Amino acid sequence: MSDTYDVLNPATEEVVTTVSLASPEEVDFLVARAKAAFPGWRDTAPADRARLLRAMATLVEAHREELANLEVQEAGHTIGNALWEADNVRNVLNYYAGGAERLLGHQIPVPGGIDITFHEPFGVVGIIVPWNFPMPIAGWGFAPALAAGNTVVLKPAEVTPLTAMRLAELALEAGIPEGVFTVMPGKGRIAGQRLVEHPDVRNIVFTGSTDVGIGIMKSAASNLKRVTLELGGKSPTIIFADADVEAAAKSAPMAVFDNSGQDCCARSRILVERSIYDDVLAHMESVVMGMKVGDPTLASTDMGPLITAAQRDTVASFVPPDAPIMFQGDAPTGKGFWFPPTVLAPITKDDRQYTDEIFGPVAVVIPFDNEAHAIELANGTDYGLAASIFTKDVGRAFRVARAVESGVISVNSHSSVRYWTPFGGFKMSGIGRELGPDAIEHFTETKNVFVSTAE
Ligand code: NDP
Repeated sequence: MSDTYDVLNPATEEVVTTVSLASPEEVDFLVARAKAAFPGWRDTAPADRARLLRAMATLVEAHREELANLEVQEAGHTIGNALWEADNVRNVLNYYAGGAERLLGHQIPVPGGIDITFHEPFGVVGIIVPWNFPMPIAGWGFAPALAAGNTVVLKPAEVTPLTAMRLAELALEAGIPEGVFTVMPGKGRIAGQRLVEHPDVRNIVFTGSTDVGIGIMKSAASNLKRVTLELGGKSPTIIFADADVEAAAKSAPMAVFDNSGQDCCARSRILVERSIYDDVLAHMESVVMGMKVGDPTLASTDMGPLITAAQRDTVASFVPPDAPIMFQGDAPTGKGFWFPPTVLAPITKDDRQYTDEIFGPVAVVIPFDNEAHAIELANGTDYGLAASIFTKDVGRAFRVARAVESGVISVNSHSSVRYWTPFGGFKMSGIGRELGPDAIEHFTETKNVFVSTAE
């Protein structure tokens, strides 16, 4: 008999539903089914694959409130964020549907014949999704993978399987054949690991912690499986004195505390030019103390709970009784995995709150003396996912953007994830890129065909 898991609502600790978890044998069965479905899907005309993905996007749109409510229940996301997430799945499906019809190869001038390249799908792609953004992160993997002609077996996080399961039902309803897109709830160390080790899975897309990502890369190496890894972050916001200081400072808290800080792109290190340090803290405090933390079903709520009691304990370990709390907002007491938005200062670059990914609503603020110092601090962790730079000096904006070792940089804003543009990290934040115009090609192998024209 399968193991089961009680999905908890993190805001209430009530059981939402119970799901069966895949055993290694079930993983093997589902991968075999996906492998059997591959030739038919690969050979489906690109225009028909595109039409089916667009049909799925239309169903996602029709069910956006249902999907968003599921996300609120299983992940504690605010309803505003959850609606954005459902819309993101729709947009990403529509965007990559177009890609199916534009997987263009090259015609390369060579002597003695004609040379052309093809983008061939891998076969079965395995996607392992974390709990922090269950719907969008699933979509960033399965939409381009399916558009390129692969079949997909997706393992959601154990704690947040429900939206992915519903998306798989919508795919079937849209007419995507059985076995082409499979969602398989399961434990990471059982179902996830089997997916990574399975010889018939040719490519793994993993989003999650850096430690697990390193393990996945090692396992995948045994049969040279391709991997894309989107891992942790410790991203900075850098505010220069020549910026619109009030606007920059007031934007900084939600760039950390959105999704309760459970965001790999959370700008959890706020670096501030020393001459404006006190001003920035004052503006930030006005925002943090006004934040509404509570019932995520309300449109007025800014921040919901953390995902689990264990995650709350981890986050709390970064704020021991002697932590230098500069200011701290409010959070409900009682049922639910709550933690208040917290700003720590002064902090040094050697403190673990500065170097480690906390993945909760805890920010640190640290002053810098000049541009070179800001860059040195920004690059002073093992991670390199995102960064925000606030300045009115366009030359400085570009200098700093080029010098910061991060995959996604935003100037005078906190943009990280836009489906039109590539997303991924430098250093320990990952390998490979998702989203953007090239992502569909990452789900293919390049094949070169030479045809002799000799008589
Ligand atoms: P994990 O990296 O453990 O989990 C991410 C996904 O990988 C889940 O689906 C998980 O399954 C699966 N998984 C776990 N172990 C294996 C394995 N050996 N083989 C294959 N798949 C596996 O992240 P956690 O949920 O434990 O979160 C821990 C920390 O990771 C967070 O506090 C945060 O710092 C970071 N994190 C970063 C994310 C990011 O977007 N960069 C996202 C999530 C977490 P299961 O859920 O069943 O364990």
